[in-house]
Amino acid sequence: MSHVTASSQAAAQKRPIARYIVIALIAIVVALLPFVLTLTPYVLNISMQTATYAIAVLGMTVVLGYTGQINLAQATFFGLGAYAVGLGTVVLGLNFWITLLLGVGIATIAGFVLGLTTLRLGGHYLAMITISFQQIFDLVLTNWADVTRGPDGVAGIMRPSLFGFEFSDDRFYLLLCLVFLYAAIAFVWWLPQTRTGRAMRAVRENQLAAEVIGVDTLRTKVIAFTLSAALAGVGGALYAAGFAYISPDNFSFARSIEFLTMTLLGGAESAFGALFGTSLLIVLPEWLRFLKDIYLAVYGLAVILIMVFLPVGMWGFVRGRFDRFTRSPAVDVASIPPLDFDVAQHDGGPILRVTDIRKHFGGVRAVDGVSIEVERGIVHTLIGPNGSGKTTTLNVLNGIYKPSSGSIVFEGRDITQMSPHERAGLGLGRTFQNIRLFASMSVLENVMVGAQRPNCANGADRAELQERALSAIKFVGMAEQAHAIVKNLPYGHQRLVEIARALAGRPRFLLLDEPAAGLNSTEKRSLGDLLNRMKGHGLTIFLIEHDIALIEQVSDTITVLNFGKRIAEGEPAYVMRHPDVVAAYLGEPSHAAA
Ligand code: ADP
Ligand code: MG
Repeated sequence: MSHVTASSQAAAQKRPIARYIVIALIAIVVALLPFVLTLTPYVLNISMQTATYAIAVLGMTVVLGYTGQINLAQATFFGLGAYAVGLGTVVLGLNFWITLLLGVGIATIAGFVLGLTTLRLGGHYLAMITISFQQIFDLVLTNWADVTRGPDGVAGIMRPSLFGFEFSDDRFYLLLCLVFLYAAIAFVWWLPQTRTGRAMRAVRENQLAAEVIGVDTLRTKVIAFTLSAALAGVGGALYAAGFAYISPDNFSFARSIEFLTMTLLGGAESAFGALFGTSLLIVLPEWLRFLKDIYLAVYGLAVILIMVFLPVGMWGFVRGRFDRFTRSPAVDVASIPPLDFDVAQHDGGPILRVTDIRKHFGGVRAVDGVSIEVERGIVHTLIGPNGSGKTTTLNVLNGIYKPSSGSIVFEGRDITQMSPHERAGLGLGRTFQNIRLFASMSVLENVMVGAQRPNCANGADRAELQERALSAIKFVGMAEQAHAIVKNLPYGHQRLVEIARALAGRPRFLLLDEPAAGLNSTEKRSLGDLLNRMKGHGLTIFLIEHDIALIEQVSDTITVLNFGKRIAEGEPAYVMRHPDVVAAYLGEPSHAAA
């Protein structure tokens, strides 16, 4: 492929710049329209509503679209921004800009606190808690009338001025809202390209895998939630001054649902989807007014139909059409540098010392007092019949489960109580028996999330991470598919991507859970070669495997488990002939396990 690359890589770099210019031009034209056309106050009002709502919906894009966390309290954060401006300017007589900052600050802190306390839960619990939070806010607004002015709301909110210029003209205030909206769009558009943005998408795609390759998933989710609340605060603050009057009705649970619907309708994964969904859901009811009585039914039906038939949202649908025609950039395989490995000098001691670990699930003693020492720079294979506790052992080693008792010492450090991402940060990599990739991200993006693990020598900026990722992808032989979306790859290739993702994080110790499962015999053989190449670079590998040929091709040491206990250990030739091992595999009672 290398013969096409020079020109096509240049073309790939040029395309986005042209795109930026077109988008910037459209944005400027839209912003200037009110000054050229004579728009009615009604149209200007709808536009202001769209712009301010869209900023809150962009927040939903971050938390729901990128990070996959449900938030049914976005109207609360929107309301916090709005009430800070309303009460701040009207009751306390503060300057608008100060109340704007105050409102965003309060919304941000509320988002942070709510996120920090609830995001451990996720799923239904998160939905329920955000609903409760929304209801509490509603009750406070309505009932704490001394402060909030209750159901009457706050009237007479003034438009701001800046350097003596008054934004009293609707057209200028709309322009101000658009400036904030454009900044929010740019931010939300740029976010997925960043480390944090990639981590967010990784959390959405597969939280466990993200954690295991070094993403602090709780921190990532809290950041997303906080950003989302901050954006809602901005939108709410601008909304309050735009409409001069706010009341609890504007920030009810129904409004949160509306924000959610806008997000999903437009396409949750894109900044433009947010804009699309917001505009449509504000304009649609206006269009449908002529239907009088049945308008709500038609409106509801339209929303349901769009969501059912366009699960990726309207923007996602449009994007899908375009993606067919845009070819992903070619990869210049020859120019990718070889992968280097971080392997500590041998100090003679084992890299991993596991002492008497136990993990019981109710009555099932999945792991029952296992001790293992893994020497550096070898392939140490763990075998045993199905259900003998191999995967559970691996899950205890990398922190998915805490052992009921026993200790794990990695490179002289006790890691027994560490979380998976902390262990990853020390150089413990792994792959899964049932592949866990970030399915709708590209091969390159998957491996870049691996490359950005904390405490490792990979650079921080995008170019360095990308180079490191490409080196890992090339090492496993997948360079030409670097831009393919993972879920479109055949199974065998997905296995390789998972290994590349682990290698990109410079592990010193790699845990592989049945990497050959589902591969054909040619693929198994080349997997064996790959493992031997990795070992050749000094990497220590702890392998769970069933395939006898592969075990014999790569193993230096074998440990055999049965019923959660170690029944044999040693060189392959010795272990494979051990009577207890033969008995375990043939299903006869084992003397050692008794
Ligand atoms: P292997 O990988 O050797 O096939 P596992 O470690 O997956 O075995 O499972 C060992 C035993 O622990 C099995 O009996 C399995 O049913 C049980 N087990 C594994 N994970 C869980 C869990 N999360 N909850 C309850 N039982 C489990
Ligand atoms: Mg298993």
